Amino acid sequence: MDAPKLEWAKQWLQTPKQLYVGGEWVSAQSKQTFISVNPANQSKLADLALAGKPDVDSAVKSAREAFESAAWKNLTRRQRATLLNRIGKVIRDHQAELATLETLDNGKTYAESFNDDLPESADVFDYYAGWIDKVYGDSVPVEAGFINYTQHAPLGVCALIVPWNFPLLLACWKIAPALAMGNTVIVKPSPFTSLTFVRLCEIIHEAKILPKGVLNLMTGDTEAGEALSRHDGIDKISFTGSTVVGKKVAEGAASSNLKRVSLELGGKSPNVIFDDVKDLDSVVARSFQAMFSHKAEKCSEPTRFVIHEKIYDAFVEKIVPKANAIVCGDPFDSNTQQGPQAHEAHFKKILNYIEIGKKEGAVLLCGGTTDPIAEKTKGFFVRPTIFGDVKNTMRIAQEEIFGPVLCLIKFKTEQEAIDIANGTTYGLAAGVYSDDAKRAHRVAMQLDAGMVFVNHYGCYDFASPFGGVKQSGWGKEMARHSLEEVTKLKSIWIRYS
Ligand code: NAD
Repeated sequence: MDAPKLEWAKQWLQTPKQLYVGGEWVSAQSKQTFISVNPANQSKLADLALAGKPDVDSAVKSAREAFESAAWKNLTRRQRATLLNRIGKVIRDHQAELATLETLDNGKTYAESFNDDLPESADVFDYYAGWIDKVYGDSVPVEAGFINYTQHAPLGVCALIVPWNFPLLLACWKIAPALAMGNTVIVKPSPFTSLTFVRLCEIIHEAKILPKGVLNLMTGDTEAGEALSRHDGIDKISFTGSTVVGKKVAEGAASSNLKRVSLELGGKSPNVIFDDVKDLDSVVARSFQAMFSHKAEKCSEPTRFVIHEKIYDAFVEKIVPKANAIVCGDPFDSNTQQGPQAHEAHFKKILNYIEIGKKEGAVLLCGGTTDPIAEKTKGFFVRPTIFGDVKNTMRIAQEEIFGPVLCLIKFKTEQEAIDIANGTTYGLAAGVYSDDAKRAHRVAMQLDAGMVFVNHYGCYDFASPFGGVKQSGWGKEMARHSLEEVTKLKSIWIRYS
């Protein structure tokens, strides 16, 4: 792992960050700005332009012109693939820089930024570059006298709205397939974590990789997000964020031009552990990692462990010391295992849910407070918290907390475990641990979630679909699914007799 670039970042953060529209850096038309704050100590990181509706209008105009332009439309597939590969390469070339900004802005440890977020952000461009010449339509067997074939055409202008938990990575997950299929994009990062994407636009701009207007950046919040979802000039909106805001995005799309919408939303994912598991230590270790890495700000993390009553006490005995041993602190310190939560309102929300859990009668097994370092540093540090004897009807088991608060729920029978696992409005991911192969398959088939992990919670691969069901979202990302989300299927008929 390369050393962080803190001195470089200090210099870079001095200059106000602007919007990127039509290949130019511009201020918000209102001249309004907002600040980004370091969650480890509440110091100001940078001033950023606050995009409003007029800025979104000009970004849409520039993205539309770029979509129609020969400079973009007439590229060969090979040329487009080369551009995507070049983006992957410049991300790798700036890995330490970008990882430093991600950690400053989001609070995850530098090791997590450098080793998890950054390599995937680069690799996804290579993955989708490889798809460009492999997407083709069907020759359809229709009645004699006619030929029918299908074609995948780009949708046009895609607005990509992302949250703060994997700021650069989730943006790259969306941009790579959209550009691969010939669309142009407007990206709106979260106001809490825009810095890595601003820097990536600069790097792409300096290296002159993309024609003007193909990539546009709107830093800002609700006004920009709403303007994008309600804009008649946008063909597609791909949103990752909370279920509450996802519903507003869908409403905005429905009440404007009925643009295509895909939604990757919240979760309250279960991890069912049966009493037939032979190596409980390893199950505890892997489940713990799946829950608490990246300071438990992962949409698909298993926040409800549904544990067979026979192994419940042994499980508690093994997991609580692990939580108590977690070192919270400066995310650039290599001894730190858990950085600060991403922003103040979120930090307060987590602490409030801990109080709710106590009042609801769940048993606080560990944590339940801020980490002592929070007082010294003013950082948003929360001790890993585990509640035992949780009932699935409690608010802490039903509502997404999105922080280091784990619920342990006991079950007796297989059917009860399935009912508990499926008993929320969400359906993003689910896990099952069992050494009985028949049971593992039987339960996996009944878990109502977009992704089910058997005996290893949290497997991901660009080749496998990612996304939820129920109120965890619409549509899938990754593999060919992301490509289908940014193309329109045309059916072409030809009479030959
Ligand atoms: P959020 O919904 O508050 O914000 C997400 C984005 O939407 C931000 O860029 C925000 O500025 C923008 N936004 C705010 N109001 C808007 C509006 N009215 N119209 C359009 N855009 C608007 O979510 P968050 O707090 O940034 O992120 C946490 C949430 O993201 C959690 O619920 C988490 O589960 C979810 N998430 C889901 C996935 C997934 O793949 N399913 C992945 C990561 C995060």
